[in-house]
Amino acid sequence: MVTKEIGNNWRPGAVATDLPLTYDRPVDFGLQAFCEECGICAERCPSGAIPRGKNKKIIVRGIRRWQVDADQCYKYWMTTGHACGICQTVCPWNHRNTLFHNIMREAIEKFASFRKIAMVGERLFYKYRPTPGPKWISDAV
Ligand code: SF4
Ligand code: SF4
Repeated sequence: MVTKEIGNNWRPGAVATDLPLTYDRPVDFGLQAFCEECGICAERCPSGAIPRGKNKKIIVRGIRRWQVDADQCYKYWMTTGHACGICQTVCPWNHRNTLFHNIMREAIEKFASFRKIAMVGERLFYKYRPTPGPKWISDAV
């Protein structure tokens, strides 16, 4: 799951609540189109569990989406002995909440043509970010 505010930095397993809720509408902040340009998580995934490209979407429970191969991912975790999280580390939506990055988020949402420019910037300035898992993982093992 990816949100505009915190990227893919959370993985809800389940939410149990008795709050009275009403259905709202899907939120479109340009993510699908941006992911089609990006694909960095798929490139960096060491297990090849993340499909890349528009034609790799499949229907899952009525929604057309990219489906991570959870078995493939988990097998990789088992070979390393700990969780991975590289796909979270490298996602451009996870940049810190600075003024600059927030302006970029707004521009990506509002201007389709800006997505390509943002992607060029991402690869130019962050391409060589190291891709081991988050520090809290290495601290924990
Ligand atoms: S956690 Fe690691 S192995 Fe699993 S999908 Fe993400 S990058 Fe791939
Ligand atoms: S790294 Fe983030 S923005 Fe890029 S394709 Fe993956 S989920 Fe989408």
